Amino acid sequence: MKKFTLLFSVAALLCTQVKAQDSLTIRKMYDEALVNGQCYENLHYLCKNIGQRLSGSANAQKAVDWSKKLMDGYGFDKVYLQEVMVPHWVRGAKEKAAIIDGKTRIPVPIVALGMSIATPKAGITANVIEVKSIKELEGLGESVVKGKIVFFNRAFDPRFIETGMAYGTAGDQRFMGPAVAAKLGAAGVIVRSLTEIIDDYPHTGATLAAPGSKMIPAAAISTKAANKLSAMLKLRKFPAAKFYFKQNCELLPDVKSYNVIGEITGSENPNKFITVGGHLDSWDLAEGAHDDGTGVMQSVEVLRIFKTVGYKPKNSVRAVLFMNEENGHKGGTKYAELAAQNKEQHIAAIETDEGGFTPRGFSFADVSKDFIKKVNDNFKSILEPYDVDKLTIGGAGTDIEPMKETVPGVILIGFRPDSQRYFDLHHTAKDVFENVNKRELELGAAGMAALIYLIDQHGL
Ligand SMILES: [Zn+2]
Repeated sequence: MKKFTLLFSVAALLCTQVKAQDSLTIRKMYDEALVNGQCYENLHYLCKNIGQRLSGSANAQKAVDWSKKLMDGYGFDKVYLQEVMVPHWVRGAKEKAAIIDGKTRIPVPIVALGMSIATPKAGITANVIEVKSIKELEGLGESVVKGKIVFFNRAFDPRFIETGMAYGTAGDQRFMGPAVAAKLGAAGVIVRSLTEIIDDYPHTGATLAAPGSKMIPAAAISTKAANKLSAMLKLRKFPAAKFYFKQNCELLPDVKSYNVIGEITGSENPNKFITVGGHLDSWDLAEGAHDDGTGVMQSVEVLRIFKTVGYKPKNSVRAVLFMNEENGHKGGTKYAELAAQNKEQHIAAIETDEGGFTPRGFSFADVSKDFIKKVNDNFKSILEPYDVDKLTIGGAGTDIEPMKETVPGVILIGFRPDSQRYFDLHHTAKDVFENVNKRELELGAAGMAALIYLIDQHGL
């Protein structure tokens, strides 16, 4: 009996010592991020000296060259490019749109959806069919839809606490809506911007073509314009208000581009990896600050923190700056392909692509309740002092998703910052550096460094 008690107390003592060591190291990492942090300054450069960086653009190439140089300068063990072909979609001259009410034309803020086609030179003018869902549109059938502009107007559901859930459930209108409308013979599609905020900023984002069927011009209008158009359609039954829009976008041939990768090689297991990443490309309306400049600069910062505090990970830790998340996912797909080809073992992959807001925690994709309980038992109390201890089952990220298929055993993790303001800015002209808070950004980088440290030391 006594022997058991003694063994138990030795184990408890060891465990306390390990926790104390972990706490000290993590404190050091936070201090480095908050006192000498460089991700805010780096983000400033990316946003102001390079700016928007849609896949295939000259700016995307500039971002590749600069971020490689940045990581070379930090002296990481390996810094290299991973070649990948990406789509090259261009917006062309600024779009125009108006609600036509008899002789009155009311201008409407509009942006073409990524990967959409242009309108004819004169634009499209047509009657409008408003629907709330794809199902409702399909119910109307070809005879009603043919030749019309389909207007998807289902708002964000404000009851979700996580705004990403509202985005997820309203998003099918933008992703799939235009392809369904095209099949039914519509002339064009306009979509209510995917946001809860009511303002005059339209939100772009990719739309998908249905395999084998033709595309029609598709665009997003601001939420204020969507409310106005909907009200007018209800008021003016005859003669009904019409809609006009003109856009000039084009899909050019694919372009050679790159994922940018920095690595600190593991001291014990060089061929086992923990990756942290975001996407380097951005939409073309602003600077891609929160989406996803913050994510890529935080990822680089994690490695910089490790190196600066002198932490030598047992496993290799990589910062991966994925290319082409927004309109093709080619970078993420290529990374997963090569990881399998090179027989790399991946312990975990973390993605930060939900904005650089106040960190709350992490979500673990496709894990069991027992698994998440163990993660909480092991890590929660250490992360608690930093308010980054919400460890849940949930989504991870688009760029790392393909690894699920190619790299057996990898745990995919999403960094979860506060979500309340993200969709005010997401894919709009407002996604600029000025809307990023320095401390929130740094706390996120430190939180990821802490989690990666814990995984590196104790596994999952
Ligand atoms: Zn993003």
